[in-house]
Amino acid sequence: MKTIGLLGGMSCESTIEYYRIINQEVRKKLGKNNSAKILLHSFNFQEIVDLQFKSEWAKLGDLLAESAMKLEKDGADCILICTNLMHKVAPAVQKKISIPLIHMCDSVAAEIKKQNIDTVGLLGTIFTMGEHFYKDKIKDHNIKVLTPQAKDAGVVSDIIYQELCRGILKEESKETYLNVIDKLKEKGAKGVILGCTEIPLLIEQQDTHLHVFNTTQIHALSAAEFALS
Ligand code: GLU
Repeated sequence: MKTIGLLGGMSCESTIEYYRIINQEVRKKLGKNNSAKILLHSFNFQEIVDLQFKSEWAKLGDLLAESAMKLEKDGADCILICTNLMHKVAPAVQKKISIPLIHMCDSVAAEIKKQNIDTVGLLGTIFTMGEHFYKDKIKDHNIKVLTPQAKDAGVVSDIIYQELCRGILKEESKETYLNVIDKLKEKGAKGVILGCTEIPLLIEQQDTHLHVFNTTQIHALSAAEFALS
């Protein structure tokens, strides 16, 4: 079995999910007491957020790359950045390591294709929804990406930083998200990317008729598949 390197803690609420999903999948596939071989570097999320909002992306790239290099040196066979947003610095990380970086957008786009869906809505942080690094990677797979209008995008993003990443799950925020998802559906989305690894803590498939793409689960399962291949 290969060893999975996780860059986590962004936030810790979703890193727990990566750990659980990967281990459960390995046990499901191998049985008995088998579990995954995982090396985790967990950041202090506040330090990451402070740099994000100061637009210190080069510094963030260096930070993540440095940790990825340590995990490689310690025996990791692949690296996962356990957040959608921080894939903004994925090229800077991949440049510094010689093991594969399992890219969130490749895993998510493959899953969208599997469902034969050509237009998806995207929920995430303001950076993920508003900038090109994520949407373009999905569009490369011939998938159209729709994002909420500016006011809704701001609310969605604030809920991520002020609630979900702090382990706070509110019924009213769930309603807000479902409302935004309905608007994306009206604009033509056939599915919705929960493009922040904490959103699946709030929204599940059973909450909406639109096909939901749980990025945490999709990405974690890609890692388990890699480890067992
Ligand atoms: N976990 C979130 C994501 O998947 C946002 C946290 C962050 O990286 O700032 O994008």
